[in-house]
Amino acid sequence: MALITPETRDETATLLAQLVGTGLDFKLGSGVAQQRLAPKDVRDLLVTDLPGEGVDVETLIQELIRSVLPLCNNEASPQFMGFGHTGADVAGLAGGLLALFAQQNLINQSFAAPSATFTEIAVLRWLRELLGLSNPLVSDIGSVWDVGGVATYGGTGSNTVAMLLARENIAPGTLHEGVRDGERMHIVVPAGIGHYSVKSALEWIGCGGRIIEVPTRQYRYDLTALRRALTANKGRIMSVVAYTGNSRTHTVENLRAVHDITREADPGIWLHADACWGLMCALTEQLAHKIDGIADFDSITVDPHKVMDIPYAMSALLVRDPAALRMVSSYSDLIMTEDYAFGQVTPFIGTKEWSSLKLWAMMRAHGRTGLAEMMDRRLGITQAFAGLVDAHPQLLRLNEPDMTAVVFLYLPRGTDPQRPDIARVNAINTAIHRELLDEGLWHFHTFSLPDDYGRLERGATLHPLRFMGNNQRITETHMRDALDYVTAIGRRLDAR
Ligand SMILES: *Cc1c(COP(=O)(O)O)cnc(C)c1O
Repeated sequence: MALITPETRDETATLLAQLVGTGLDFKLGSGVAQQRLAPKDVRDLLVTDLPGEGVDVETLIQELIRSVLPLCNNEASPQFMGFGHTGADVAGLAGGLLALFAQQNLINQSFAAPSATFTEIAVLRWLRELLGLSNPLVSDIGSVWDVGGVATYGGTGSNTVAMLLARENIAPGTLHEGVRDGERMHIVVPAGIGHYSVKSALEWIGCGGRIIEVPTRQYRYDLTALRRALTANKGRIMSVVAYTGNSRTHTVENLRAVHDITREADPGIWLHADACWGLMCALTEQLAHKIDGIADFDSITVDPHKVMDIPYAMSALLVRDPAALRMVSSYSDLIMTEDYAFGQVTPFIGTKEWSSLKLWAMMRAHGRTGLAEMMDRRLGITQAFAGLVDAHPQLLRLNEPDMTAVVFLYLPRGTDPQRPDIARVNAINTAIHRELLDEGLWHFHTFSLPDDYGRLERGATLHPLRFMGNNQRITETHMRDALDYVTAIGRRLDAR
């Protein structure tokens, strides 16, 4: 059964159906991982030589189920509360499976992706419309330059394309001639809460890691400081980046104000909104006001694999002016000299998977109403969790959730709120996180974070825990159990 043939068709179907069952049971499993081993033990278990003799696919699958799958993290578990990349939407999974079989290549339309190209165009337009960007009439879409977006493999890829656009915008022709005046290619980001991808993008595209970090207030730009930075660096800035949901607290930037201040300082600056998480705000009326102004940004990154329950990997970069993508186009007579070939407008990507079908299927299945209900349920889960944290005398909440992230600290016994021992607080929260990882039963995320509300000590760098309310299987019982678990670890560490 090495290849699909008419003779092996039924046998293959049975085998794959069994595998689907295994996959579903995996996703429905409780706990974060069935088995935990130290990284070096996993290494020694799995990094083996290629055997001389093969095995049949059934044996191979059994081997995977026995040795690899139990060690996998299950982000669909309601006990995995750190992210919520569940990949558990049934329509999304169906779209992903179909794309896997259909094997379309979106680099080219005519012979490699005759219909896939157009479902991709459709879903990019859906995203644009939700975010308030205007779309041309369908009859006016004559080429990929009329679409106003590209699908990529992640927020990192989308942000990199955005930085490439910013670079060509400030110094046209750099694509062909290389970077000449890097001093003009600084970007402005908020200090302490940014995502590494933007800085990495600058480095990858030859601009050097030229970031200007502006102080924040309550996890948004300090607008006075932003104005000052723009004035002080006049002529040196190619882009201002606004996090529409930063990757720590998911606080949504004050987009309208950032837009107005930037355009006033220098209308030539490329405004980029990183809405990897913020896409959520476009899906429900409850949050729509938070992204007011986003449609005036030059480019927007969205990361549906983070917020739409679809399997990895699917992101998109959307541009206000569709023609802007001409600045970073590639031409080759090999396979893409035709109007609808996405290969021309997708830097860094050649062969291009039909990743957008997952999103197309998910959005088609839920419709606008279903999407809004889904997001509203998540907001309810998040509020409930924030309430539990607030009610607990030994837990301290650090952010005001705009979306579904609740960042909190365990406070060791004897913490004096007037004179907190920051090092001790950080050490105990870091130790709690380590135990969570080692045990694999529950999961909260962790990172460094400035105490921007001054809940303990304004400006101090904290190492908190983060809950995400994106997984709709999380119940109040899960939340209570998780917090009991965390506080029990904390008390045990206190006693040492
Ligand atoms: C996750 C994230 C990214 C990177 O996205 P990937 O899909 O992991 O490449 C970029 N920006 C923000 C704000 C993010 O949260």
